[in-house]
Amino acid sequence: MKVLSVNAGSSSLKFKLYEMPEGKDLISGNFERIGIDNSFYTIKINGEKTKKELSIPNHKVAFTILVEELINNNIVNSLEEIKGIGHRIVQGGDYFNKTVIIDEQVVAKIEEFSSLAPLHNPAAITGLRAAQEVIPNAIQTAVFDTAFHQTMKVEQFLYGLPYEWYTKYKARRYGAHGTSHKYVSERINEILGRQDTKTIICHIGNGASISAVENGKCINTSMGLTPNAGLIMGTRCGDIDATIIPYIMDKTGLSIAEVTNIMNKESGLLGISGISSDSRDIEDGIKDGNERCVLAQKMYVRRIIDYIAKYYFEMNGVDAIVFTAGIGENSPLTRAQVIEGLEVMGIKLNGEANNSRSREVKITSEDSKIPCYVIPTDEEIMIAKDTFELI
Ligand code: ADP
Repeated sequence: MKVLSVNAGSSSLKFKLYEMPEGKDLISGNFERIGIDNSFYTIKINGEKTKKELSIPNHKVAFTILVEELINNNIVNSLEEIKGIGHRIVQGGDYFNKTVIIDEQVVAKIEEFSSLAPLHNPAAITGLRAAQEVIPNAIQTAVFDTAFHQTMKVEQFLYGLPYEWYTKYKARRYGAHGTSHKYVSERINEILGRQDTKTIICHIGNGASISAVENGKCINTSMGLTPNAGLIMGTRCGDIDATIIPYIMDKTGLSIAEVTNIMNKESGLLGISGISSDSRDIEDGIKDGNERCVLAQKMYVRRIIDYIAKYYFEMNGVDAIVFTAGIGENSPLTRAQVIEGLEVMGIKLNGEANNSRSREVKITSEDSKIPCYVIPTDEEIMIAKDTFELI
């Protein structure tokens, strides 16, 4: 059965088509600059990538091109072969705790939660509407970034604010990256060979979050009402004293929108280093003796260690710590520095094993009290799996 995994942004559409249940990747690609000038798309079949530039005025046109490519490349003979389409949805609020089949009530709920994810949810609706029009017979599902975190208890997801802000305005921790945390926590349980585990999953990429997972269920996570909480990220500040906001507004005359934008797009590694949000540039800067890069990396690593320590105590121990996403999978330096900071827990690095990129590997030595792993994440296959299972 062929299942399409889709991630729609306001001007982009990423997709991957799988043969399920095998999980074989048949074609993947990305439409970019939809609705703006110089739009183009790339597709990848059997490792071969091609790029085409043409006008893509909206998501419906993108889906129509996608279908043409599938047929022209003999990946499907007819649309009927695509039985399911799973859509990544960023915010499912406190309503969705699992993947669901999309109907009008589900769309209305996604719309309702748009105020919590104003950039993402409306774009996802545009994407799913386009898919419904172009591939009407496929079963469409909504896979929520927040769903995996819905098992958090109230004392974990509530802020120390007036209770009515929660009951009236739904101001609480929701978390994000849930599909990745779910995928990686299931994989680590397979490696450990049991389900009754306590694991800490470090999804550290440009966006970054850490989850504490007990017996396969999320008990806490570092992102909050929005993704700008917890860890220091590429351009997001993560946890701060919220009172900094009125203080800076008062000092600078910046508006709430401007401060919000700076906290999301000009902070984190970029804000501290002053040069880049990309960890590769930070690592190059460190080699060149750039003090601000050294500082940015130190703060970045410190925050990760702090969260691991917090969740270690919260779960009363941990069976494995896992690194994933861009930096987690590709930066031996960051992993080594985090593990060095966990020495007090009896964790010992295997330097040689740690020196690898983009592959599943145990990076601690045999005498390490707690094993640490790298597990490449795969949100697309998780979306396809959930969709396949629902069908
Ligand atoms: P997101 O999906 O949140 O946009 P990614 O998970 O793709 O982000 O992670 C992007 C980050 O991963 C960047 O900081 C990038 O520098 C880092 N990264 C990717 N490859 C490498 C590498 N080979 N060495 C160090 N960092 C890397």
